[in-house]
Amino acid sequence: MKSARLYEYGQPFRIEEVPSPAIGEGEVLVKIEGAGFCHSDLHIRDGEIRILPKLPHTLGHENAGVVAQVGRGVKAVKEGDPVVVYGGWGCGYCRWCITGHEQLCIEPKWVGLSEYEGGYAEYLRVPRERYLIKLEHLQPREAAPLADAALTPYRAIKRALPHLVPDSWALVIGVGGLGQYGIKLLRLLTGVGIVAVDINDERLELARQYGADRTYNSTRHPELAKELLDLTRGQGFMACFDFVGTDETLALCISLCASEGKVSQIGLAGGTARIKPLENSRFEVLFEATLWGNIQELREVVALAESGRLTPIPMEFYPLEQINEVAQKLKAGQIKGRAVIVP
Ligand SMILES: [Zn+2]
Ligand SMILES: [Zn+2]
Repeated sequence: MKSARLYEYGQPFRIEEVPSPAIGEGEVLVKIEGAGFCHSDLHIRDGEIRILPKLPHTLGHENAGVVAQVGRGVKAVKEGDPVVVYGGWGCGYCRWCITGHEQLCIEPKWVGLSEYEGGYAEYLRVPRERYLIKLEHLQPREAAPLADAALTPYRAIKRALPHLVPDSWALVIGVGGLGQYGIKLLRLLTGVGIVAVDINDERLELARQYGADRTYNSTRHPELAKELLDLTRGQGFMACFDFVGTDETLALCISLCASEGKVSQIGLAGGTARIKPLENSRFEVLFEATLWGNIQELREVVALAESGRLTPIPMEFYPLEQINEVAQKLKAGQIKGRAVIVP
């Protein structure tokens, strides 16, 4: 099968022929119809996040497709079923796996981000049937981004729900693929006022369409922190979602978070969250770096999408051969919503 492999950090992916994965008992082979290209994969390719146990490796953790083959004992899915693949695989035995937060496993086996190969290939080996969620109406290639771009903000928002009361404001920094789903989900799940901040006018226009009440291009607002604080009448934001994660964006969130509010870091751009009450933050501010989502949360996201309530963000589809072009475009900020690789 064709596969896009990373041989060396900082180098382009190589498209090559590799043997299709063999599956064992309880495992499932999925023919990939869509693999969303995530910003984290850019950080990994460039060597900024070094979590891969070995190279060469096939990335791709936002996958959907059709069941091509099932191993002995598999009952929940059969050949031909369209599925979206949950990617936060774990050991299945530690405290977090047992309590249903498998993506937090102490020995993570995340698809495409561990010894398990990912979906930038024609076929994907899935070690357990419970990682597959069957699709009814959605096309797999349009459903692929649900597995990360929608799931990750969904978990962050769900965990911040007690703070998201209708007479308060939520701040969303970064309106890329995850931020766009974040705004849609905030609108769908809460009555909170939504402020979106980005450096790109086109994406801010999307934010308005998706339900943001106010949008700010930070490049044109030198006094942004003060303006935003004034908007909340000095109270601050009850929830701040940082989809970027630089020193600057984290500092903005922390300085603007209300007492009894929550800062959720989702983006991992290498920044450090620094919280010092009486200096840069109010008291009783919660901070959490949320991670991805669990299987049940992905089922909820898929249900929202299947019902038509959660509508897709702009998607662009590219053949596997163009994966390096996609990486380039994403780095240059030229992908409006999500680029999906169709091997
Ligand atoms: Zn991702
Ligand atoms: Zn575990």
